[in-house]
Amino acid sequence: MTTLTPSLDGQHRANVAARWREIDAGKIIRVIDLVNERALPVKARHQERLNRILNADIKLDAKIYALWEAVDEIGALAAPHSACRRGCSHCCHVPVLVPEQEAALIGKRIGVKPAKVKGVKRGDESLARYDNPCPFLKGGACSIYASRPLACRQQFNMDSDALLCELVEDGAPPKVPYLNMFDYTTVLAMMTARRESRIERDPLTGLPVVEERYTPPNVGDIRDFFPNGKR
Ligand code: SF4
Ligand code: SF4
Repeated sequence: MTTLTPSLDGQHRANVAARWREIDAGKIIRVIDLVNERALPVKARHQERLNRILNADIKLDAKIYALWEAVDEIGALAAPHSACRRGCSHCCHVPVLVPEQEAALIGKRIGVKPAKVKGVKRGDESLARYDNPCPFLKGGACSIYASRPLACRQQFNMDSDALLCELVEDGAPPKVPYLNMFDYTTVLAMMTARRESRIERDPLTGLPVVEERYTPPNVGDIRDFFPNGKR
């Protein structure tokens, strides 16, 4: 049975609407600008480094780990200005999508072999419930914090509290003002996509050209990869 936040009533909806009016009026723009400004030189360094790592002849595990480290550096800048705190875990009750290669790295680090998963088994809506937490959530905290996936590492609610992360009926939380980490999630997608190179003929010149094709990675929910958590 779906368990909803106790504040799922008219008052909660009114609070959420009032918060969004404040956000739309610019409440957190200054905070996000501040973090982005401080992150700019760090991101420039990461761009150069991650580009190099993407093309380096090293194991995928090492590439993903380097990406985690880069995101943690942004996290250190965002943390003092973000609502995210230890013990705050609404986001551990929503879908947590992980490419299978990242699940394999997590599995090696925590000593648990991930299950074979073919895509997201269940609809996102059905996963977002207070009675369906991530199996690694223990006592309100992440039990694999150092090995948590990018989906969790890159999520920073830039609001002053977790109001907008609270789940509402039908599971999905309202819109949350997350820090934009699109560049980093794109790098993970590039790292885990299958790349195939084929020689084709240019239709105009008839000369051979190299065509690169990317097949998206197999992505599943963390609950399906690790149904028993860490045991
Ligand atoms: S994303 Fe939301 S629920 Fe998760 S730690 Fe941050 S404020 Fe809390
Ligand atoms: S891996 Fe950790 S942070 Fe991520 S959803 Fe699970 S318990 Fe939460």
